[in-house]
Amino acid sequence: MRQHNKKRIKSKIASINNGVLEDWGDYKWQLAHSIRDIKSFELLTDIRFGEFERIRLEKTLRKFPLAITPYYASLIDISNYTNDPIYKQSFPDIRELDVMENDMRDPLSEDEDSPVMGVTHRYPDRVLLNVTSTCSMYCRHCTRKRKVGDKDRFLNKTQLRESIRYISDTREVRDVLISGGDPLMLSDDLIGWVLEKLSLVPHVEVIRIGTRMPVVLPYRITDELVGILSKYKNLWINTHFNHPRELSGTARRALAKLADAGIPLGNQTVLLAGVNDCPRIMKKLMHVLVQNRVRPYYMYQCDMSEGLSHFRTPVGKGMEIMEHMVGHTSGFAVPRYVIDAPGGGGKIPVMPEYLISWSTNKVILRNYEGVITAYKEPDSYEPTFCDRDCDSCRLQLNLEPGKEENPIGLVKLLGEGSETVSLTPKSNERIRRRNGK
Ligand SMILES: *Cc1c(COP(=O)(O)O)cnc(C)c1O
Repeated sequence: MRQHNKKRIKSKIASINNGVLEDWGDYKWQLAHSIRDIKSFELLTDIRFGEFERIRLEKTLRKFPLAITPYYASLIDISNYTNDPIYKQSFPDIRELDVMENDMRDPLSEDEDSPVMGVTHRYPDRVLLNVTSTCSMYCRHCTRKRKVGDKDRFLNKTQLRESIRYISDTREVRDVLISGGDPLMLSDDLIGWVLEKLSLVPHVEVIRIGTRMPVVLPYRITDELVGILSKYKNLWINTHFNHPRELSGTARRALAKLADAGIPLGNQTVLLAGVNDCPRIMKKLMHVLVQNRVRPYYMYQCDMSEGLSHFRTPVGKGMEIMEHMVGHTSGFAVPRYVIDAPGGGGKIPVMPEYLISWSTNKVILRNYEGVITAYKEPDSYEPTFCDRDCDSCRLQLNLEPGKEENPIGLVKLLGEGSETVSLTPKSNERIRRRNGK
């Protein structure tokens, strides 16, 4: 069925282009043929909307524009599109216009915590660097929906220089998260330039890229791009899969390219009503991710952004999903469930309760099966007195990495410039004789 849909979309695009189907696997071709209006979507998928619905969809698009890559559209199961997770994440829903009383344009106050254009500095040691407001696909559940399709789509080089200057002037920033929009919308050259500039800042220890390209346009992960990214040995990539169906063969190959290049991969999922608000779907998603060397990082509660109310679930649904994963599956397949605090408080982790009671020397815990256990605390624990006088502290506060300064055993013989020529046990009979003992 899916294969069939891909063929259908391909041949339709070919007929629109006077029969010339250029390379489906070329990401630039995909971007150039991205679906941006209802009519093209109908034409390509054979889905038809009624007159009344079309008018309301058009109205939705005037507020929140549409963009779907042909690749992502080809994953839609046309025979059951109203329940399809790919369709729901990419095609507008007229409920996006229902703005609820509590909905906010900028629920995370990212614009307020912005010292210079493009930078959000919320946490003490890390910043968000939004290099563009554009994406290859406009996710219907985007938390930055207010910015989707903005005119000023990319930071120009002067603005980029200014935001990088802020980072190099702010010594406490040790982690830079390049986001957007989708940073991989930038040209290879510009991506390389930003990474190079950031890696020259001595206090920047890690760089992260947040991108949905492996999901919505995996062809963007070209050998050339991977060549640029793999130069930076402190670079992490976080992507955004929400449903197991998104891990097509092409998506898996893109992930494999990144992982083979040694880039650590993480995934941030959003809990979405009608898409993945089910323990079974979520667990399967996490399993497929780790199978493809992607470590589940966060599962987000859906933000209170305008136009997202139909995607929101109660927090209890997230709790239920966590309850189904913790202990039931590999620890590293379980993401951390977080709520991004409205007003800009940052991400707040929430978890079902496992510590159920405690006394002065015992804590009572329950496990994933409901087994209740007591953990007895140590009878004697001498807390380290801390008055912040680290010089007199008994803990080892030399935090420099250890060096192999005193090789022992065979390493002593193997080392360059080693003066030792032999190792002999103390009890050796021959040496004892030699020494006349
Ligand atoms: C999510 C986020 C970060 C990164 O947070 P981590 O928990 O370290 O992944 C940094 N800045 C802002 C504004 C964020 O929203």
